[in-house]
Amino acid sequence: MEKSKEHIALEQAFSQLKAELEEANDVIHAIRTGEIDALVVKGSEGHQLFTLKSADHTYRIFIEQMSEGALTLDKFDNILYSNSQFAKLLGIPLEKVIGMNFSALVTHEDRSFAMEVVGGAWDVDTRAELRLENYVGEKISVQISLKALELDEGKSLSVILTDLTALKKSQSQLEIQNKELEIARQIAEELNSNLEATVKARTQELESNIRDKVRVEEVLRSNEQRLTSILHTMGEGLCILDTIGQVTFANPRAQKIFALSAEEILLRDYFTLQSECFSLDGSTLQREQHPIYIMSVNQKPVYDHEIMIRNHKDESVYISINASPLYDGEIFIGVVMTFTDVTNRRKIAFQKDEFISVASHEIKTPLTSLKASMQLLTRVMETNLGSEKIPMLIQKANSNLAKVVHLADDLMNVSKIQHGPLPLNLEETNMASLVISCAEQILNHTPVKLVIEGEMELSVLVDQQRIEQVLVNLFNNALKYASESKIIKVIISQGEKFAKVSVQDFGAGIPPEKLAHLFDRYYQVDPQGKQVSGLGLGLYISHEIIQRHGGELTVESTFDFGSTFSFTVPTRNNL
Ligand code: ADP
Repeated sequence: MEKSKEHIALEQAFSQLKAELEEANDVIHAIRTGEIDALVVKGSEGHQLFTLKSADHTYRIFIEQMSEGALTLDKFDNILYSNSQFAKLLGIPLEKVIGMNFSALVTHEDRSFAMEVVGGAWDVDTRAELRLENYVGEKISVQISLKALELDEGKSLSVILTDLTALKKSQSQLEIQNKELEIARQIAEELNSNLEATVKARTQELESNIRDKVRVEEVLRSNEQRLTSILHTMGEGLCILDTIGQVTFANPRAQKIFALSAEEILLRDYFTLQSECFSLDGSTLQREQHPIYIMSVNQKPVYDHEIMIRNHKDESVYISINASPLYDGEIFIGVVMTFTDVTNRRKIAFQKDEFISVASHEIKTPLTSLKASMQLLTRVMETNLGSEKIPMLIQKANSNLAKVVHLADDLMNVSKIQHGPLPLNLEETNMASLVISCAEQILNHTPVKLVIEGEMELSVLVDQQRIEQVLVNLFNNALKYASESKIIKVIISQGEKFAKVSVQDFGAGIPPEKLAHLFDRYYQVDPQGKQVSGLGLGLYISHEIIQRHGGELTVESTFDFGSTFSFTVPTRNNL
């Protein structure tokens, strides 16, 4: 704590007074011990020289000039002599002072102590501090210095009194100041320690805030990274639109669907994201029919709203749109739009629709024919006319019935395949016999000839009924789709563990770009060519059956030269 100016001034005054007192004491001591012969005293008339020895007069003048009080006491403590300085100190006229008992001038409290001091001074030079009382009852602190003197007129006690009032005052002020200083120091210390505690607490608080902030920032950053990686990898397109429908963010999937780069897609209107929009019925979509427009007008989310777009690569894509308005509190700030490419889903739906129409057509044709045969048969039975047509009508009815049964079988097989692997009943069979028996069933009433070559004795390990199904389908297809072919050639060859059976026709063949899809479900090379019946399931089922046997069904075809379908099945050696 810094000392005040006043405090410093007091301390200086105090030390000056103390120094003066010490000087005065020294002088007195020197005078008493006879160390000084003469004194130069500064009076009102300038400096004066006083000789001490043998000059009583001079001595008295000196005593008068002293700033200290000087007394001489007799053995009863009566004042024999006083200088005027002492009288002045007490405010009592000098003539009254002389003759007074010294003890009467001492305060009541210090009187007995003063007497003790004075009593002891007759034997030993003494110095003490005590308080006198002036004529108005004020207490004056003095230092007294006593020495017994052997004078001509007998023993007396010389007393020199130094007024300590100023000293005491400055001392007490100093004490007060010191106390105040101490209190201030304590307060400062307390404040300091409070401050330290507060600073420490604040620092800890700050540190923990910073730690919390850092932790929150880390969580936010990792959430942001997670969100960004989700947005970048999600299979759905996502666009954020502002209040006027312009794109402010689009994830990579959205860019891909619309065939626009990250820069190109920004600030495009939802309606110009694509080059054209269509409804599912194929009509051009107006802006007011767009799901984002509808959502903005109603301020309600839209879900699974499907439209077709033509993107900037001129590709047609079906998208299903979900859109929802974004709010900051009550304020509408934009739109979040997610969309999925549902082209495949649409295609399957189209295929299903088409399949149903094909299937109903396929079933209806033999059924109509069957119905006609049955009606004719009924008429023949009723009228007994044209009974010679009966066998032909029955054969026709049977053939149409077989077609319906075949279609129903195909459908049932597909549903079986869908619900798990086909169960197989494996047995050893002669492959050539199997081929011949199937060919007989199919080719009997046709002009087409079967030519069979290769390993006629080869035994295979197969589910006979299933392999018959494959062969029947291949022969039927050759008849249906290679009707120009007069022969069907079957070659049986033996591999190490598998037998290979190839069914070759010499028909129109299949365009190379169609070959890859031939074994797909519902696939027909020329679905519009309704001259032949079929659901696009025969090769799909055959492929599944061969795969279940651990073999392979493949096709080679040269357009205009015919096709060869080959399959492999396990031989006995495969056991
Ligand atoms: P479907 O049951 O409708 O006959 P498939 O799955 O058996 O269907 O055959 C699929 C398609 O493969 C047919 O639509 C046909 O166009 C083509 N195809 C099959 N076999 C032959 C073949 N031998 N010659 C030419 N095209 C064929």
